[in-house]
Amino acid sequence: MKEKTWKEIPIGGNILEPGNSIEYETGSWRTFKPVWYPERCIQCLFCWLYCPEPAILLEDGKMVGIDYDHCKGCGICVKECPDKANALELVREM
Ligand code: SF4
Ligand code: SF4
Repeated sequence: MKEKTWKEIPIGGNILEPGNSIEYETGSWRTFKPVWYPERCIQCLFCWLYCPEPAILLEDGKMVGIDYDHCKGCGICVKECPDKANALELVREM
């Protein structure tokens, strides 16, 4: 999908049409990103539950990755991932 320019989005970044978040690749705003370590993941799905986008990808009820086109790098998933798993880390984008 082609990324919209600042001239093509509504003034103030307002979202006027419901159900259109898939059209906005909010990942392009990101300065930090979560990195997932699948070998540590206990599949509790707290990250999926709390992600505001949602950008946590599921298949057959299991986490399989992160949708970086729509992940804003807010870090909520990293905060909510249980300490005993520690399967997500927030790192600065290059
Ligand atoms: S950093 Fe924020 S937007 Fe990205 S996957 Fe985690 S909770 Fe979702
Ligand atoms: S919160 Fe952490 S342990 Fe739970 S599913 Fe997400 S990455 Fe895996």
